[in-house]
Amino acid sequence: MSDNHADLIVLGAGPGGYACAFRAADLGRNVVMVDPRATLGGVCLNVGCIPSKALLHAAEVIRGARHGDDWGISTGKVSVDLDKLRAKKDDIVAQLTTGLVGLAKRRKVQTIRGTARFDGENSLDIDGDIWTFDQVVIAVGSAPVRLPGWPEDDRIWDSTDALELREVPKNLAIVGGGIIGLEMATVYAALGSTVTVIEFMDQIAPGADAEAVAILRAALEAEGVTIHTGTKVTEVKATKTALTLSCEGGFEGTIKADVVIQAVGRYSNGNLVDPKTAGIEIDDRGVINVDASCRTNVAGIFAIGDVTGNPMLAHRATHQGHVAAEVASGHAAALDTDLIPSVAYTSPELAWAGLTQAQAKDQGIPHKVASFPWAASGRNLASSGGDGLTKLVYCPETHRLLGATIVGRNAGELLAECVLAMEMGATLEDVSLSVHAHPTLSETVGFAAERALGTLTDL
Ligand SMILES: Cc1cc2nc3c(=O)[nH]c(=O)nc-3n(C[C@H](O)[C@H](O)[C@H](O)COP(=O)(O)OP(=O)(O)OC[C@H]3O[C@@H](n4cnc5c(N)ncnc54)[C@H](O)[C@@H]3O)c2cc1C
Repeated sequence: MSDNHADLIVLGAGPGGYACAFRAADLGRNVVMVDPRATLGGVCLNVGCIPSKALLHAAEVIRGARHGDDWGISTGKVSVDLDKLRAKKDDIVAQLTTGLVGLAKRRKVQTIRGTARFDGENSLDIDGDIWTFDQVVIAVGSAPVRLPGWPEDDRIWDSTDALELREVPKNLAIVGGGIIGLEMATVYAALGSTVTVIEFMDQIAPGADAEAVAILRAALEAEGVTIHTGTKVTEVKATKTALTLSCEGGFEGTIKADVVIQAVGRYSNGNLVDPKTAGIEIDDRGVINVDASCRTNVAGIFAIGDVTGNPMLAHRATHQGHVAAEVASGHAAALDTDLIPSVAYTSPELAWAGLTQAQAKDQGIPHKVASFPWAASGRNLASSGGDGLTKLVYCPETHRLLGATIVGRNAGELLAECVLAMEMGATLEDVSLSVHAHPTLSETVGFAAERALGTLTDL
């Protein structure tokens, strides 16, 4: 047993954990950060946001090359060197994760490679070493849900396996049509797999605006992806030659695949740290409940990121990380907003924040909707953007924006204007009178606001 003691210990080095550790160090705290991974950056940098976006970029390059003919540009038959692509992706991940090592050193944040769990109210066991602390931030993230009753088979992948890019299966089935499933469908369809997506809910990207989702669905189908919604996989049989999925609901029958990706959600890792030993309340899904200042029910113990439940997104984790560091260091801070943007980096991208039209209706919130179709956007047409839509939900009385959904190229980047507008309480007038450069895709946001006000001349 050692007599190690730290002012503040952060458990987990993902976007929540490292943001928290670095902010706390910047505020003058003596910080120790613990993670069992060989590299810093958590799921996001190692097996999540960054490698998936690298592969999605490759998918976009492939599609661009294939569609070059439309512009009189011939590149010949597109071929992919999988080893080189994998190396490129790994290199991007390595650049970012080693960059974090430098950032930690510069701030004198001590990093320990190890697995932590609470050993008592004021102590942690880190791979057999006992540490005491003044404060702890739990940022141990989440892991992919594995469906019960499925056979053990290395042809059944989770998102981490899919991002390893071991092979390009001829027939790929993806169970789960949420953001991760759709991003994987986009990657593997571009690489040459015949992809089938099976989604239990009535639409892919559940929770997003139905009109925008229909545009994404049509684009995926045009790339050869088969989509079955309202469909449940009831059984999976593994034989030497294939995996066979039995389906019920929207699609009744069987689907044969060489590889199946399970993309049915993620569960919180809360139980991994034995929180009850320290008296921390945890629900039966492993989620540690926190207040807006990221405090748990135990004084001096905070939790941030995926371990605190939905929405499980890196930018939420980072913001909570800053809040926890500041509150732990005696400052007043809170993440006092429901406005967490969601983006599917598919082709086209689908991005939304605030209320969708359906949510406003279901919640009885007075609202109106204005949209601008991208078929009328010069910039979109001039860059082969395909179909797209910018849709604003607003209050008919105050004209304040309540929500925004954008589907189209770079929708994820365009959404930022809408999020800022909503946070600042901007009105349709504010948005429409802000001069948007022409021709840009961002004009579609201004045009949608103009349309609501009856001042639009571009339709
Ligand atoms: C394929 C994929 C794509 C994604 N794409 C996006 C995206 O584009 N945008 C986005 O916003 N989000 C995306 N996400 C979600 C995003 O990765 C997570 O929301 C984010 O990583 C959560 O950050 P976190 O800090 O809470 O935890 P994590 O990033 O999960 O990090 C937690 C860390 O804690 C460590 N840990 C676990 N147990 C212990 C323990 N007992 N002691 C110490 N350390 C421990 C783990 O090793 C891990 O490194 C994606 C996820 C996946 C899987």
